[in-house]
Amino acid sequence: MQNGSEFDVVVAGAGPAGLASACLLAQAGCRIACIAPGIELLTSPRSDEPVRRTVALMQPAIRLLATLGVWPGKLQPGSAPLELLKIVDDTLATFSAPTVTFSSSELGEGPFGWNIPLDLLVHELAHAAKAAGVTLINASVRGCQLGAGKAELSLDTEAKLGAVVVIAADGRQSVLRRDAGISVNEWQYDQTALALSFSHTSAHHGMSVEYHKTSGPFTTVPLPGNKSSLVWMVRPHDVDPICALSEDQLAARLQLEMHGDLGLVEDVTTPATIPMTGMAARKFAANRVLLVGEAAHVVPPIGAQGLNMSLRDAAFAAEAISDALRLYEDPGSDKLCAAYDTARRADVVPRQAAVDTMNRSLISEFFPLHLGRAVGMTALQHIPPLKRRAMLEGMNPTGSLPRAMRG
Ligand SMILES: Cc1cc2nc3c(=O)[nH]c(=O)nc-3n(C[C@H](O)[C@H](O)[C@H](O)COP(=O)(O)OP(=O)(O)OC[C@H]3O[C@@H](n4cnc5c(N)ncnc54)[C@H](O)[C@@H]3O)c2cc1C
Repeated sequence: MQNGSEFDVVVAGAGPAGLASACLLAQAGCRIACIAPGIELLTSPRSDEPVRRTVALMQPAIRLLATLGVWPGKLQPGSAPLELLKIVDDTLATFSAPTVTFSSSELGEGPFGWNIPLDLLVHELAHAAKAAGVTLINASVRGCQLGAGKAELSLDTEAKLGAVVVIAADGRQSVLRRDAGISVNEWQYDQTALALSFSHTSAHHGMSVEYHKTSGPFTTVPLPGNKSSLVWMVRPHDVDPICALSEDQLAARLQLEMHGDLGLVEDVTTPATIPMTGMAARKFAANRVLLVGEAAHVVPPIGAQGLNMSLRDAAFAAEAISDALRLYEDPGSDKLCAAYDTARRADVVPRQAAVDTMNRSLISEFFPLHLGRAVGMTALQHIPPLKRRAMLEGMNPTGSLPRAMRG
């Protein structure tokens, strides 16, 4: 890569959000580079390791993957459809909520979505980006100078790169967000997520179950065959004792936590541990930098919101930029940044608040919060239009979807 190379758009970060926006922009004919450390490894052949992290993606996100040419492809055989979603109050609180089951057949639009191994998703998106002509650059962005009409990125390889507009998909510690002068609100949860997968003797019937416990949700999500992935929120002091269990002991513990619902548990993978934090950028775009994914917002893994929102960021950003380029307008203008900020804020802020409230209602000892959760769940169980609205809102968020996600 020559110093001073010019692109219409540079995407920093090769997680699912960055790669999806890069693919969409390449499909729209933009000159685009995607920069991340180790990016070339993402397209090398994959080893046959067991699945640990998965992401449940709802239908709009699946339609985006189809637009990008990666769905069904090699993704679908490794993924499982989400037909039923069950929420079980396992808190033993005085005001416990009824069990609520959502069935995709009530909407008649196929499954709610699919549970996809995260590594496989990133691998397929990286291949698609390469095939679509995205210039993949193996480097870290060190900093960014933002001047009139242009952004200049400095890389740790000493190269410099110019672009008219930058998509910051460089994760929660985003360097580009910092250099665009965007500050954040950050908060901690007294929780750590354990992510793993396991086999079981009883069928899951395409059902994901969220057991609400006093340490947070314990969520099983179906994988092909008699396998499931698990995200288990525990208190930080419980992490070491759980991780010290032998595979058999951990299998027995999981069986107990699920009340035997999936039969005997075996083949448990080593848990990945992720401390729980929340973060919201105070602006979602400024100074020629559009934030997508965890550079813009971080939410606890409840109700499968994180990457679903991030892929909407990616598709909105790509659509706004490619439309501006097509009309010979400045794709990094203050007007475009302000419109992107308004559109994404309307989607992200209420969802982040809902996830935060649900999580705090579990871990808090403040009984009015327990009561509120019980009343809300009872209403969902007994008022069919409300239940239907909740299912639709989970699958097809209010407001317009970006073109790449429409049916
Ligand atoms: C346990 C768990 C379960 C989850 N389950 C779900 C789910 O079921 N459904 C759902 O929708 N969401 C889920 N999420 C959320 C989802 O996993 C994340 O939202 C998503 O992976 C974030 O993707 P991203 O592309 O924004 O960031 P990342 O995947 O973090 O990617 C950041 C990229 O930036 C690169 N980078 C970092 N610094 C630099 C730099 N200086 N220069 C260049 N590149 C840089 C990194 O190398 C990486 O490539 C879950 C999260 C957790 C923790």
